[in-house]
Formats: sequence, structure tokens, C-alpha cells
Amino acid sequence: MRDVDVVIAGGGPAGCATAAALADLGLSVLLVDAGVDRHKQLSGELLHPAGVRDLRGLGFGDVVDAWKARPVRGFAVVFSSPARTVLLPYGHGATGLSLEHATLTIPLLEAVARRPGVTLLARARVTAVEHNDERGVRLRFSHEGVDQTVRARLLVAADGRASPVRRMLGIAEHFTRISTMLGLTVDSACLPYPDHGHQFVGGPLYALAYAIEPGVARVMVDLPLGSTADTLKERPELLRTLPPALRSEVRRALEQPPAPRMASNDDRLSATVRVGSAVLVGDAASCCHPLTGSGMASCFHDARALQDALRQHPEDVPRALESYERARRPAQRTRVALASALYDACSGQDEGMRALRQGLLHYWEHSPRGASASMALLASEDSRMRVMAREYLCVVGHALVGLRPSRRQPVRLRAAVPLLRSVGPPLRDAVASTVEQMGNWWHRRVRRPVYTLARSGRASPRRAFASS
Ligand SMILES: Cc1cc2nc3c(=O)[nH]c(=O)nc-3n(C[C@H](O)[C@H](O)[C@H](O)COP(=O)(O)OP(=O)(O)OC[C@H]3O[C@@H](n4cnc5c(N)ncnc54)[C@H](O)[C@@H]3O)c2cc1C
Repeated sequence: MRDVDVVIAGGGPAGCATAAALADLGLSVLLVDAGVDRHKQLSGELLHPAGVRDLRGLGFGDVVDAWKARPVRGFAVVFSSPARTVLLPYGHGATGLSLEHATLTIPLLEAVARRPGVTLLARARVTAVEHNDERGVRLRFSHEGVDQTVRARLLVAADGRASPVRRMLGIAEHFTRISTMLGLTVDSACLPYPDHGHQFVGGPLYALAYAIEPGVARVMVDLPLGSTADTLKERPELLRTLPPALRSEVRRALEQPPAPRMASNDDRLSATVRVGSAVLVGDAASCCHPLTGSGMASCFHDARALQDALRQHPEDVPRALESYERARRPAQRTRVALASALYDACSGQDEGMRALRQGLLHYWEHSPRGASASMALLASEDSRMRVMAREYLCVVGHALVGLRPSRRQPVRLRAAVPLLRSVGPPLRDAVASTVEQMGNWWHRRVRRPVYTLARSGRASPRRAFASS
């Protein structure tokens, strides 16, 4: 049986970042990756400046510099009716990056495998968590057809949104399947704003597009659940959301190789991110519709939060995990709530959501402060739920003004009622988040007994991760 400080299940963005972060603390890390084929995946490709910063902070600067990535200056939100575009630049002239998923992730895994303290087992799969309590974990994995057992002080589940390890740990989740995403590559010359992430809103469907390499752009089309590429071939009118040049490029791509990539868009929020000596990071802990492009930045943020927590409580793993959970949860709640509210606003077909879109357009066109506050939320620079709720109320205010054509005419109730009803979830989330933060504040002021862990599994005065 092997003995290590940390086992990480999953070598995606979250697993790589966490391996680097924990090896940096001097811990021995066994990174076990099942080896999903990233060339076939439709997954993260646009990285906000916050994600780029965190990656550099975790020592991946060389990898970032070697990427043949396209610069991203912010979002271009292209409204169908009225036909208008709002540019939302990142704050302080910051730049994000976009590149094909495999060319982004594979170099990260190769780089982390070279780090002192990290051992990578590629094409290996965690198959069972045999034991897990506050003193450590014992788990089984299969590698090259051989079953092996490993004992560790800490297990990190970074095995993606379907997370088999989360299920092995018995952690429940809130799960909603939202829609199906179809991804195609097209000529990037047909993008109206080549150095922006595009959001096409207000037509029969919602779509995203950005350049991923010189001359090539990814278009992601959001379709109802159960749709396939044939749905778009049979109903080309759905593509009316896109400008004509992009629309004909998508039609051409549907008929030619490579075949479109597909993925489901899910909302997932695990009931807790820790149990015993196991912790969840990245999509295993939470994920949402990708329209904000915040998934990978959130993975890197998790890695840094876990590193900070273990640095703060090196002698008490359970306490470090508790501190990690408290540190990350408010931002995750905001991210998931923001993506859900924005998705409804961008794709909803009822009168209320149409009015909300007009409100968004009016707000961003008339309030530079509002536009930059919205972008800070979208780019994961600001994760405060109360800011999100405030911004949502501002947009609803602008939408309500638009529903009253003149002072003499009443507000159109058919649109106003669903619009006002849509305010409920963001406000509820804001109140829940405030209560939670008050709880955190209270908790920080209550002294808890500290105990340490040792490799032997018995309580000991040694540091939890000190090598024996
Ligand atoms: C359509 C779509 C578009 C997206 N676009 C963006 C975007 O533009 N920007 C952005 O930031 N985010 C985007 N995201 C989200 C982003 O892709 C995810 O947040 C990110 O990939 C999550 O990384 P992860 O490491 O948590 O999980 P994953 O990337 O899913 O990696 C999980 C790893 O775990 C391994 N694994 C699975 N089971 C086991 C096991 N039992 N044992 C060992 N290893 C195992 C797999 O092989 C895999 O390597 C998008 C998502 C989707 C679906």
C-alpha cells in the first residue's frame, strides 16, 4: 500500500491547479487521472483575466506564455431586436485568453507532472473510497488493469461535474439539466468583434462565439434538451439569432467535418464540499451554464482557496477544509445564481424575459457604471451576492421603464408580472448568502479545539502534513 499526503482524483483544470498548489506547500501529491479524451470534449476554452492571473500565481506562467491563445478584451453582447451590440470590456484594460480546450488543458497536465512532489498516474481511475474519516482516507484505484490501494491525509475530488468520487463519498447535490450545447468551428473572420467573447441573445436560441486559434472560431449553440445537429439542419430558422455571415458559416460547418461536439449544460451545487478528509474542487463541487465562461477561473480559485486554508491550518486538516468551504461558498452561490438569471434573461421567450433583455440593453447603454459592475460579476472579479442582486434590480427597473411607453399609459402587466416574479430567486439568494456570511463571522469568533493528525492515524502533536 502506498502512503502519500494528498491524492487528487482528476487531472483537468481543477486537478492540475490543485496539485500545483498543494505541492507548493511541500506536500507529496498523487494525481490519478482517468484520461478523458480532451480532443473530443466540448468544454472550457475562454479564460477570464482572473483565471489567467491565478494560473500565473500557481506557477503556470511558462505554460500560459507558450499557449497559442487569442486575446479576449471582454464580451460583445449582440442583441437581435433591436439589432444592437454592447461591448463590455474587462476592467483596467485586462485581457483574457481563448484557445481550444485540449491545447489549454494538456500542457497544464504535462507541466504539473514535472513539478517536484507530484506523481501523475495517467489512465488511472479511482474506483472506491474504502475508508474516510477526519484522520485520513484509504482508497482504491485501477491503473493498467491492476487494482492498487493508497492511504492519504487528504483526498481531493477534481473529477468533473459527474464526479464518481463525490458519489463514493455520499455527498448529495442539487442537479438540474438545462439544455444541450452544440459546438462547431468556423472561420473567425465572420466574428463581428474578433477579440471579444460574443453572446448572441434575443433570437430563437442563445449562442456564444470566440476565436480559438488564428483563423478559427468556436461557435456554441444552445439547444433544447434532446436536440442534435440534425435539429439545426431541419430547423435552420433557429439560427436567425446569428448575424448573416456567421449563420452561413455555421450552416456550412454542419455539413462538413469535423463533426460538431456536444455537451449538456447543467446546474450542480453539492450539498457540502467536504466530508472527513475528503474535499471537492472545480466542477465536482459546483458548475453552471457556461454562458459566463467562469468555470475554469473558478477551478483555479478553488485551488488557491484550498492552498490558503491548508497554509492557515497546517496542523488541522478538518479545520482547513471547513475554512476552505466557508471561503469558497459565497462566490460559488453568486456564480451559479448569476449564470441562471442571465441564462433566463438571454434565452427566455416569454414577455417578461423579453422585457428583461430590453432592460439589460438600456441599462448597459445608459449606465457605464452598471456595465462595468455587470462585467466584474461576469468575469468573476466581483463575487458578492448583494452586488448581483442590486444589479439585477437595476436591470428590472430599466425594464419596467421600458414597459411604460408614456406617462399617460399604464405599465404592460403581461410583461411586468413575470418580470417582477423573476426578482424572487436573486433576492432570496442574496438574503441566504447574507445570513450565511453572518454565520461565518460568528463562527470565526468561536474558539474550537484544535487537534492534529498523524500518518499513524492517531491523534498526535505532530503537524498534520509533516513528513514522518
Ligand atoms: C459546453 C461547455 C462550455 C464551457 N465553456 C467554458 C469557458 O469558455 N470558460 C470556462 O472557464 N469554463 C467553461 N466551461 C466549464 C469548464 O469546462 C469546467 O469548469 C472545467 O473543465 C472543470 O474542470 P474540472 O477539472 O473540474 O473537471 P474536468 O475538466 O471535467 O476534468 C475532470 C477530470 O477527472 C478525470 N476523472 C473522471 N473520473 C475519474 C476517476 N474516477 N478517477 C480519476 N480521474 C477521473 C477525467 O478524466 C478528467 O480528466 C464550459 C463547460 C461546458 C460544458
